Amino acid sequence: MRALLAIILLAASGVAAAAEYPALQSKITPLKVTARVYYVQGAPGVASAANEGFNSNAGFVVTGAGVVVIDALGTPALGNALRLAIENVSKEPIRRVILTHYHADHFYGLEALKEAGAEVWAHEAARDYFGSGEAERRREQRSRDLFPWVDESTRLVRPDRWLGEDTEFTMGAVRFEIHHLGPAHSPEDAIVVLPDEGVVFSGDILFAGRIPFVGEADSRQWLERIDVLLKMRPRVMIPGHGDLSRDPARDLALTRDYLLHLRATMGKAVEDFVPFEEAYAKADWSRFANVPAFDAANRVNAYGTYLLMERELLRK
Ligand SMILES: [Zn+2]
Repeated sequence: MRALLAIILLAASGVAAAAEYPALQSKITPLKVTARVYYVQGAPGVASAANEGFNSNAGFVVTGAGVVVIDALGTPALGNALRLAIENVSKEPIRRVILTHYHADHFYGLEALKEAGAEVWAHEAARDYFGSGEAERRREQRSRDLFPWVDESTRLVRPDRWLGEDTEFTMGAVRFEIHHLGPAHSPEDAIVVLPDEGVVFSGDILFAGRIPFVGEADSRQWLERIDVLLKMRPRVMIPGHGDLSRDPARDLALTRDYLLHLRATMGKAVEDFVPFEEAYAKADWSRFANVPAFDAANRVNAYGTYLLMERELLRK
């Protein structure tokens, strides 16, 4: 009944106004990090119809001369709810959105922010995502799994500005640094550093409190990037998923230990010519089996890592 109502509302309104979804709107509650920095936090685990696609985080910075948003959440309705939440906090215009990476759970909400006047920035390594057909394939999958929140009319908004390596700018009272850390979780991984606030938006380099989505990621470089993040010693790290961290060294440990475990078990299997199925069945996953998103993500992560370790072995 609820789904049917949502379909009717979507059909009637095009992009659903968040005000029509009281349950959804109430979940988009900005949490204050510093005087100028806020974020909203999605549910643990993977995006699903049950959590209405709200499983990732997004942040925003009120600079005094406009609002800068980091990531845009995973559905058009969520993007709209984020916009309304920002407008409740500040009357400054939403001027810019910086995407940490072009994964479906972080950018399907862009449309509403663009309509508010924001310019979208992302690293140029995301061009392949659009050029390869991956963007459309992912939307088809999301249309099945997240209907009616995502369907074939969901716009895949591209950046207005493609970024090269590292970029800096100042807006109002806030200095921003954008560092390219990919390829790690994705080719285009970017982090947003606010040096004067002591805050880093890490995107999906850090998954707090859940099994990361690894898939085809380059876990060798991802581990190196975790070390880069640790050396920055931020006071606060806002991850792509999960709780904000005031102790990044501790909270990066789960992501790091999990990647190391995947690489050790799958790497050994590849070296010993053990087929994937057998290696997966034999591996000891008990340390991670109770962590959120394990059931949804572990097998595909292990398989992607198995293929990666084969490629790494061939290069040796
Ligand atoms: Zn993500």
